[in-house]
Amino acid sequence: MKQKVSVVTGGCGFLGSHLCEKLLGENHKVFCLDSLITGSLENISHLLSNKSFVFVECDVTEFISIEENVDFVWHFASPASPIDYLKLPIQTLKVGALGTHKALGLAKAKNARFFLASTSEVYGDPLIHPQKENYWGNVNPIGYRGVYDEAKRFAEAMTMAYHRYHNLETRIVRIFNTYGPRMRINDGRAIPSFISQCLRNENVTVFGDGSQTRSVCYVDDLIDGIYRLMMSNNFEPINIGNPDEITILQLAQEIIELIKSKSKIIFERLPQDDPKIRRPDISKANEILNWFPKVDRKTGLEKTLQYFKTKING
Ligand code: UDP
Repeated sequence: MKQKVSVVTGGCGFLGSHLCEKLLGENHKVFCLDSLITGSLENISHLLSNKSFVFVECDVTEFISIEENVDFVWHFASPASPIDYLKLPIQTLKVGALGTHKALGLAKAKNARFFLASTSEVYGDPLIHPQKENYWGNVNPIGYRGVYDEAKRFAEAMTMAYHRYHNLETRIVRIFNTYGPRMRINDGRAIPSFISQCLRNENVTVFGDGSQTRSVCYVDDLIDGIYRLMMSNNFEPINIGNPDEITILQLAQEIIELIKSKSKIIFERLPQDDPKIRRPDISKANEILNWFPKVDRKTGLEKTLQYFKTKING
């Protein structure tokens, strides 16, 4: 059988690099595109010797040029942590809008199937719980997080327009909080922050009173769901995430216990528009993709901890 060809934008990022690995395991040829603004070559260094792997440093908000036939375009490029998109508001909007347009254009030119990495942030600070795909969300368009939320909402609209107007095969996943090896230590998200603070015996910074909830999914489960979605016939958005909900304070306590750290919890100001609750309703992924997460939080946090130990202790 002819080798399938995949293009992964944001292939040097946390999720993108795990996806590249998965696709190589499925015998795809992989073009990994990244501007290296938030992605890192270290995430793919172990893939560079693979003959089926090609790294292209480029900015996908500009024209994307691939000479070969392409079967699948996976659009994962974007800053993805609140700290990153506060620092890079315009790049975040550009990659969600212009980058999605260019990646869709590539898929259309190659008659490839297109996959959009969207987000639970499209639901904003949600007024229904858990969040089902038919919920339209509660987003502040002009808040600090709006640059990410609105870019992804635009990206979904653009993807559906290409699907409807150009008959392009498209898939949209709404990714809920995901964690695992290759998250950046300083990306500001809760799990890398708490683990690195514990390993350095620094105070653990819980924002607000820590009563806000998240539901965290281990990266291997997420990538499995994403691959299943691409290979399915479902073009409507699907939530992928782990519905095991926890408060941020509990999460901080669990990590302190896991590491047996002497770190103390301190409370800091809650960032603007920080969602108070978040839990995916995954019944659609369950029914359509026969997908459900398998890795429990203890196991996932343990694996993530091992990774951060090598980064912090060398
Ligand atoms: N958070 C925290 N301390 C930190 C980093 C994050 O208490 O050092 C909180 C943050 O305010 C949010 C939750 O943890 O309520 C999850 O934040 P994260 O940045 O991981 O992802 P989000 O779901 O907000 O995009």
